[in-house]
Amino acid sequence: YRDADFVMMDDSTRKNLELLQNLRDNSSSFTLFETICHTKTAMGTRLLRHWLYHPLRTSEEIAQRLEKTAALYHNEKLLMHIRTILAGVLDMHRLAGRIAMQRAHGKDLLAVKQSAKACLQLVQLSKESSLFFLQLPPHVCDELNSLYDLLEKSIAEDCPAVLSDGGVIKAQWSEKLDQLRSLRDNANQLLEDYLERERDKTGIKNLKIKYNRLNGYFLEVSKGNLKSVPQHFMSRRSLVNAERFTTEELCSLEAQLNDAGENIIACERELFTAVHQEVYTRLPLLHQLAQETAELDVLQSFAHAAILHGWVQPEFSDDGVLEIHDGRHPVVEQHLPSGEFVPNSLLLSSAEDADIPSFALITGPNMAGKSTFLRQTALLVLLAQIGSFVPAQRAVLTPVDCIFCRVGASDNLARGESTCVVEMTDTAYILRNATARSLVIMDEVGRGTATADGLSLAWAISEYLLQAVGAKTLFATHYHELAQLVHPRLKNLCLDVLEAEGKIVFLKKVIDGVAAHSYGIHVAQRAGLPESVLERAVEIMQSGNATALSSAE
Ligand code: ADP
Repeated sequence: YRDADFVMMDDSTRKNLELLQNLRDNSSSFTLFETICHTKTAMGTRLLRHWLYHPLRTSEEIAQRLEKTAALYHNEKLLMHIRTILAGVLDMHRLAGRIAMQRAHGKDLLAVKQSAKACLQLVQLSKESSLFFLQLPPHVCDELNSLYDLLEKSIAEDCPAVLSDGGVIKAQWSEKLDQLRSLRDNANQLLEDYLERERDKTGIKNLKIKYNRLNGYFLEVSKGNLKSVPQHFMSRRSLVNAERFTTEELCSLEAQLNDAGENIIACERELFTAVHQEVYTRLPLLHQLAQETAELDVLQSFAHAAILHGWVQPEFSDDGVLEIHDGRHPVVEQHLPSGEFVPNSLLLSSAEDADIPSFALITGPNMAGKSTFLRQTALLVLLAQIGSFVPAQRAVLTPVDCIFCRVGASDNLARGESTCVVEMTDTAYILRNATARSLVIMDEVGRGTATADGLSLAWAISEYLLQAVGAKTLFATHYHELAQLVHPRLKNLCLDVLEAEGKIVFLKKVIDGVAAHSYGIHVAQRAGLPESVLERAVEIMQSGNATALSSAE
């Protein structure tokens, strides 16, 4: 595949959107991945990660995937059944890898058998429900059946991992092996018979046949019975309480036994290699099954997440519009008590002739919910373009070609660059690469430098995005002065604040307009700054010194 087939996202966008790892400790908690990962197989989980980083670009491809997710979503009983079967599918990609490298042992082949059985069940289910998954042509079905049969008949259920332990191949798979095994079992019987005869002849009741690696088989006679030892017993070794002997007959029996053991292992090795080789020739089938079950697994994971979280199927159009009714942040919502997340709507369009703005300038105090709103928009678009349902009442989207997400003032001191340099490098990248079909999210960009600089830069960047690029943009800023920027394609949004009896409540609701205050002192108070510091801050603010300070800057 080519990069151009997918939505372009750079590393910092992926990081800022917390797709696979969160920004706090790089773990997967509080990430989009955590919210939507309900896969049942390792292959599915890997593919989901890949899809999260590679959303689709064209409406046709997205529609195809969404249709599949929807089919599973609308058939909950079938979905549950599929989830149960998928739990029995092992990592066929890895197994195929081991087989290709001639490294698979008996247990791996059993794993292939178990997965083949689950796939056969899925094929059956697919036929019964006439759904999209695992629709294998008859000859491929036959191949799958014969692979299952081969492994079912040849490999023992409790086979050891090591061939030389013996017992890998099932009885009745090979006549030759069965004969060798019965020879060995007979040899054991011969040994027992022989011992019985010697006991009778010598009258030594506690005569035993023992075995150790060094001496092989031997007869052991206790000291008290030594006088009864006959001539043909040849002494091997003396112990404190007993003496060990061998006889010609015992030696010949031993030779027979050893041969049988070795012959069995050699024969099993030969048979296993043949089975392995047969499976090897089916590698393309294994890869196909791995691919198809992984895809089914991700799609069922989407359907399951949609049912679990109450998401809806997004609609797609090609007229540049981005319309979200009552959208929610997929991750933040999950970590708030049910019903506490405040949904927000948005309407933007990149079509020049439309009456709808392409650029939303969002003002509001800290902690009002700006970042959450910005990211939820990007995550919704991304979810839709990987084929998932989305957390909203309704969503009509035009596929985007790139998603950019920049968060200002994220110090990158470890890389030895100042905040400002990082911010401006990132911004330069966006301005050079974004197109009218892109989605640009800028959160507090321009913070890394002095107020006047920062404001002017934020202003010029906004103008460029509006005029030269025309990308759908969400630009959050605490520079309320930026709201003086006027352009027909720009709209001002802010976060609603309720002021009553000296108290301030952030309603988390996005409304039209510009924020009246920054409520910095209120936020400081909430954060527990000492009362005297707060009073002094109010004093300075009211005396107008702060303005003087900032203009001196
Ligand atoms: P800002 O970017 O304006 O500083 P954030 O987006 O970081 O604000 O949000 C501040 C806090 O409010 C976060 O803890 C977040 O979980 C919560 N929050 C944000 N948006 C909502 C919402 N729509 N509904 C409920 N809680 C929200």
